[in-house]
Amino acid sequence: MRAMKSIRALQEIIFPSRCLGCGQLGLEICSLCRKNWHPHIYRQWSQHLPTFPIYSAVTYSPIAGKVLLAAKENNLVIADQLIYKALGHALTFALREIGGDFLIPIPSRRSVARSRGRQFIAALTYQLSAETGLPAHENLEHIRRVRDQSSLDAKSRFHNLDGSMKSLNFLSGKAIVIDDLVTTGATLQEAVRALRDRGIEVAAAVTACVAEPLR
Ligand SMILES: [Zn+2]
Repeated sequence: MRAMKSIRALQEIIFPSRCLGCGQLGLEICSLCRKNWHPHIYRQWSQHLPTFPIYSAVTYSPIAGKVLLAAKENNLVIADQLIYKALGHALTFALREIGGDFLIPIPSRRSVARSRGRQFIAALTYQLSAETGLPAHENLEHIRRVRDQSSLDAKSRFHNLDGSMKSLNFLSGKAIVIDDLVTTGATLQEAVRALRDRGIEVAAAVTACVAEPLR
């Protein structure tokens, strides 16, 4: 870990900063790209029963996609911070309007987490936990392989994911589920199904980004 950090520090000396959104030399994220990462508040309800509210902060765009990728694949600190702030923004609204007792991150697949060197969403969820005082629980686990979602339409995504996660143990109180991006909502729906099957109450889901339209 320390070696990784010193390599990154060296790279910053050898290679000047480029905007992670557009690649322009200078800041780590330029003012133009920063505008594409302006946290608003988006509220919507999941499409399938039983439903739950989803709070998100940033509209998905090609630039937002690069921020997510830079955080997930390259562990870029500035990208983490942008996503963390967006999550914090959406979480504030969810807590104010719905409430919740603890946070549950959507896990990455074990092989993905291994190659990245961390559970990306869980890491951000622990930061949110430290700031809000709400406990974070890594309560979800993938229990079977699923097909790559990118080529599937909304309906096939739900089918593809159904029964693919399980909750590790019962927790009393209301959960808030945390993820980086909501597109069709299929992943969140499956997570909530698994938690509710275990008897855990889910108050809301919070994501940094939202891809519109959600259908
Ligand atoms: Zn830029």
